[in-house]
Amino acid sequence: MQHYDVIIIGGGPGGSQAGIVLAQAGKKVLILEREEYPRFHIGESLLPATMPLFKETGFYDVLSDGRYIEKYGARFIDYANDDEVRFGFENGLNATIPMAFEVERALFDKDILSYAVKCGAELHQPENVTNVEIVPPGALQESLSGHDIGAIVKTNLAEYSCSYVMDVTGRDALLGKRLTTRESNKGLNNVAVFAHYENVARYEGKSEGDITIGLLPNGAWTWIIPFKNGITSVGVVCSSQYYDGENDFEGYLNRKLLGSERVRTMMKNAKRTSEVRRIGNYSHTSQKFYGDRWILSGDAAMFLDPIFSSGVHMSVSTSTFAAKTILQAMADGNKSLETPGLGDKYESKARLGGKRFRNLIMMFYDGSFVAQMKKALVRENVRKGFTSAVAGDVWDEGNYLFEKSVL
Ligand SMILES: Cc1cc2nc3c(=O)[nH]c(=O)nc-3n(C[C@H](O)[C@H](O)[C@H](O)COP(=O)(O)OP(=O)(O)OC[C@H]3O[C@@H](n4cnc5c(N)ncnc54)[C@H](O)[C@@H]3O)c2cc1C
Repeated sequence: MQHYDVIIIGGGPGGSQAGIVLAQAGKKVLILEREEYPRFHIGESLLPATMPLFKETGFYDVLSDGRYIEKYGARFIDYANDDEVRFGFENGLNATIPMAFEVERALFDKDILSYAVKCGAELHQPENVTNVEIVPPGALQESLSGHDIGAIVKTNLAEYSCSYVMDVTGRDALLGKRLTTRESNKGLNNVAVFAHYENVARYEGKSEGDITIGLLPNGAWTWIIPFKNGITSVGVVCSSQYYDGENDFEGYLNRKLLGSERVRTMMKNAKRTSEVRRIGNYSHTSQKFYGDRWILSGDAAMFLDPIFSSGVHMSVSTSTFAAKTILQAMADGNKSLETPGLGDKYESKARLGGKRFRNLIMMFYDGSFVAQMKKALVRENVRKGFTSAVAGDVWDEGNYLFEKSVL
């Protein structure tokens, strides 16, 4: 049986990032991804706060090679009265993160996974993990070759051993569902219906890559995310209690989009280029993020809501923190992640970021977000604080809004 320091299950942005961090630290790492790439995935608008992590690993050079549109701002428009607020990321607390990118995930996920391989991670794709046997604490086996085995990972093709295993399987949460309880996040039971289109009108110049969020009645909202290749991602999110689309996803999407004059104008010449997809019941948090030799990161640990495009940022950030926690445990002689100062420290940090995003998200769903923000953003420290939070900078302790427990 082949042995690895770390096996990462899932080759999405989180799994790839963990693979990059561990491989760059010289560890023997295997990524198992069940799907063949390129493949469609939702989650197309990145946040500025992820960029320093990509700069640290060198992946930023791939991302900024001209194939992805630059995103300098996020616009929130209340379609009821055309009121608008724009968060220009250059106005945040951290001047070094003025922008991010809008990405088609088929391309982006292939890029970051290929970069992990370039950094030295071994990739088996497509290969589906069917079972993980955790070696009980205190009973760590020494194999004949002297490897320290924390888990046995079984796939549709083979069986491997590793010292540590990371579950980065997204909302499938392979270990998250098996080893701990996974709870749905109260108040965030939403449904999303979405598709790709060509010929959707755009803003000009530096604003071309802005994400546009449009507010509809009853907490529903639309997203408009432009890509570099002329395609635009358009979606509608609403509370499952108001969802009346049944199986006619396209009819539902058209009804919601065309209800707003502004979207009608933007989509006057639009032509759909993908199927219409629907996802619901996506907001969950695992009760525990780690055990003796296993750790969850990305959506497998928690996913809240798409409103502030926090998913990829949280996944790349928590996967970086989780990989660094494993590196620290290995440096201390392959310690258990249950050792104080390892898994517990990781989980508190991940949850703190999640809590701050959740506060922002609940502020949005409480209503009148645009009007509230327009009033609040008049004060400079508040404007900077909110802009930074919307940019994803949720671990910046210098943010006035965190200090005052507003977020
Ligand atoms: C409606 C909606 C809109 C969203 N919009 C945004 C957005 O604009 N911006 C944003 O940042 N986020 C957005 N998100 C969130 C985003 O999709 C996720 O947060 C992000 O993809 C999480 O990355 P991940 O690597 O943790 O998981 P994933 O990207 O889901 O990757 C997990 C990988 O694991 C693989 N896998 C699963 N099970 C196995 C197995 N048994 N064996 C091997 N491989 C396996 C899967 O094939 C997959 O490739 C949105 C989410 C929703 C629901």
